[in-house]
Amino acid sequence: SRIPRIVILGAGYGGIVTAIRLQKELNYNEADVTLVNKHDYHYITTHLHMPAAGTDNPENARVNILRLIDEFKIDFVKSTVTQIRPQEKKVLLEEGALSYDYLVVGLGGEPETFGIPGMKEYALSIRSINSVRFIREHIEYQFARFKREPNRKDYLTFIVGGAGFTGIEFVGELADRIPPLCKEFDVDPSLVKIYNIEAAPTALPGFDPELVEYAMNVLRNKGVTFRISTAIKECTPDGVILATGEQLKAATVVWTGGVRGNHMLDEAGFETMRGRIKVDAKLRAPGYDNVYVLGDCSIVMNPEGRPYPPTAQISMQQAGVCAHNLVASIRGERLKDFEYKSKGTVASLGRGEAIGIVGTRKIKGSVAAVMKKVIDVRYLYTIGGLPLVLRKGRF
Ligand code: FAD
Ligand code: NAD
Repeated sequence: SRIPRIVILGAGYGGIVTAIRLQKELNYNEADVTLVNKHDYHYITTHLHMPAAGTDNPENARVNILRLIDEFKIDFVKSTVTQIRPQEKKVLLEEGALSYDYLVVGLGGEPETFGIPGMKEYALSIRSINSVRFIREHIEYQFARFKREPNRKDYLTFIVGGAGFTGIEFVGELADRIPPLCKEFDVDPSLVKIYNIEAAPTALPGFDPELVEYAMNVLRNKGVTFRISTAIKECTPDGVILATGEQLKAATVVWTGGVRGNHMLDEAGFETMRGRIKVDAKLRAPGYDNVYVLGDCSIVMNPEGRPYPPTAQISMQQAGVCAHNLVASIRGERLKDFEYKSKGTVASLGRGEAIGIVGTRKIKGSVAAVMKKVIDVRYLYTIGGLPLVLRKGRF
């Protein structure tokens, strides 16, 4: 009979780890596996706050896909997916179409703007290599502009909307980047303002309050101004308007206010919540036993019935179960249930500083910063072994 065809959409955490696992577990001629991705590289989303601020080179946050997969076992197609047609078992690409027996959707998330006027149009977001290269260049350009128009203080005002982990990690890097930029452009550092604006009554809502306090103090000492319990209600070409009506002028607004699933899932007719599919215990889309959904495109409920936060960590664990279930389906064996095991959370606050919970232990400062590097290196090892650690590892 015909060899079953597996198509994986997206080479992010979920997609690339599924592909790597499949190439290890499948026997010769057991399945045709095709991986589709917009770019010929995998980017390490969890590093993007650094190249966005300019504290690290974007090259360190990406890896060529052909270095990670074995082309004898997996076909790689560099193309943009434009439509998923689950009833026809088909996906449309910018060039051509692919039919599948099994589909893995790992297309990642998109910025959630909650319909805030102007946010899509005027704010920048940290989501890909292209977007962070743009942010880095944009920031530098504001310093250059200021030298020509020294009355424009708004060129040196940086607004980061949302103090979740992405916002906090980014302001940590941005604060580290300001002193060298001021030196390079002969700008008085006291003229630069970084605002991190958060609607909830605290930064990092839901995280350990003692660690949040520590993080805010570290960031304040580096020059970040927090505006807590303050919602942004509009973004304009000149800055933001707060719920209070107050206007903050800034030539740079970076939106880190949340993520939602990929818009193609709604368009495909799947039932979604904020663009994400609530998957069954085997990680499949309801009603489609041959469609697996991973990472930021999926929702997995915790035992209390609340969604787990969308992270790289859960995406990779899902990829392991997804690969297992694909192989089991093809062999007519039993499928596994997915169960998330949190290894903890560690967030960077810029050079040498971080906070985290590992197991039940709270960590902070340089210990946490070292742990963050260990986690980053461990990921490189998982996908690319020692050679990748040596080429891309930051120590
Ligand atoms: P992604 O990793 O987002 O990958 C999606 C892939 O799909 C990309 O390769 C993209 O190019 C491709 N793609 C998208 N659209 C198309 C299309 N139409 N056609 C073809 N290809 C397409 N999580 C943690 O667990 N720990 C952390 O420390 C952490 N730090 C973070 C730091 C930052 C700055 C950010 C922004 C996020 C961080 N996260 C962290 C969250 C984590 O990065 C995401 O949850 C994770 O990337 C989701 O993985 P994914 O596989 O769903 O998709
Ligand atoms: P998030 O949804 O976790 O945080 C967004 C923040 O923006 C929230 O605190 C929210 O209250 C705030 N916000 C929303 N609307 C607002 C408004 N109008 N005005 C002001 N503030 C507003 O999003 P994120 O930080 O991008 O994180 C996304 C996912 O990635 C999460 O699951 C997170 O855990 C994960 N992540 C993890 C790490 C890490 O582990 N180191 C780092 C980054 C992201």
